[in-house]
Amino acid sequence: MQTSYAPGRVELLGNHTDYNEGVVLSAAIDRGVTLIGERSGSSLVTLCSTTLGLTFTADAASLAPCKDQGEWANYLLGVLDVFQKEGLPVGGFSAEIKSNLPLGAGLSSSAALEVSTAMLLQKLFGLNLDRLTVAKLCRRAENEFVGVNCGLLDQASSAFGKAGHAIFLDCRSETVETTPFPDGVELLITQCGVAHRLSGGEYNERRLQCFDAAARLGAKALRDVSSAQIEAGKAILPELSYRRAAHVVGENERVLQGIDFLRGGDVKAFGALMFASHESSRHNFENSTPELDALVEIVRELPGVLGSRLTGGGFGGATVTLLERDKASAVAEALVAKYHARTGYTAQAHLCEIADGAH
Ligand code: ADP
Ligand code: MG
Repeated sequence: MQTSYAPGRVELLGNHTDYNEGVVLSAAIDRGVTLIGERSGSSLVTLCSTTLGLTFTADAASLAPCKDQGEWANYLLGVLDVFQKEGLPVGGFSAEIKSNLPLGAGLSSSAALEVSTAMLLQKLFGLNLDRLTVAKLCRRAENEFVGVNCGLLDQASSAFGKAGHAIFLDCRSETVETTPFPDGVELLITQCGVAHRLSGGEYNERRLQCFDAAARLGAKALRDVSSAQIEAGKAILPELSYRRAAHVVGENERVLQGIDFLRGGDVKAFGALMFASHESSRHNFENSTPELDALVEIVRELPGVLGSRLTGGGFGGATVTLLERDKASAVAEALVAKYHARTGYTAQAHLCEIADGAH
């Protein structure tokens, strides 16, 4: 029997920058997906998710994405399929899946499952791929086999995570670096407890608005635009394009500033960038909700809080708060109580350490 593990992740700065060929900062968290498995000695694949209480079997020699009940297996079978397409010597195996990562909560349980599968396959079949290759193959599995058009952030964060470090991803060059946080900080991820009210069309609409703003500014992507250029172009940009572009360009700049602040050990200044990021989401990108705003407004008044913002796509979902470890439990408790008193909703608060990536 062999064991593999890959964590979930949270986006710290760099909201909606990925499809604008920009930069993003994330962190791997201390929750993830563990696989325990062995070679089957044939082409038989047997997968058992303890989390879901479901088992799925497939033939490694004839893999095809499954619908309905077996959809969860696509994340593992997709990685096997991509490995095979790359000519890597893999075959049938059995694996038991255990996870302490909430599913579909924006913490990227899907990428954790893929990257954990890639790590297990390497152990079982004697492969030694570098982490960037692992991340890219797992993204391909999610794109091609699962059919979700995601970027590289989730898989790269799970593969490159490092305890106490932020992960920097350049979405254009697809390079990854890590930068340490000062000691004594922790993350609080808070799900707002309200189902996504929107259809999902907003996400595509934002993409198109960003591409349109870049085109109006004569740029290949918003990655190539500075805030000075946006201010200068205000006269030719419709007001909405201006705000959409200002968010993405501001986020790219905040990521780079954030790394400088971390290098200088100034975690307070880093936290201020997180608050600024949220304000920009709220005002410029309009991907916040009253509930996410309430979470940020409440938490910022609590002692020990350094920064807070919505994380991921927005329109619901969760906030991420950077805070001092010795105050973390008190903050989490107070936030849930005050949020409930104000909104009537029950938030789910997850205190997380910034943890190592897959192994
Ligand atoms: P997220 O990545 O934000 O958690 P996704 O919708 O991308 O949300 O991925 C969630 C899906 O990944 C689940 O619906 C399920 O199909 C699969 N998955 C994640 N963790 C597990 C698990 N422990 N066992 C089985 N399937 C899982
Ligand atoms: Mg996912």
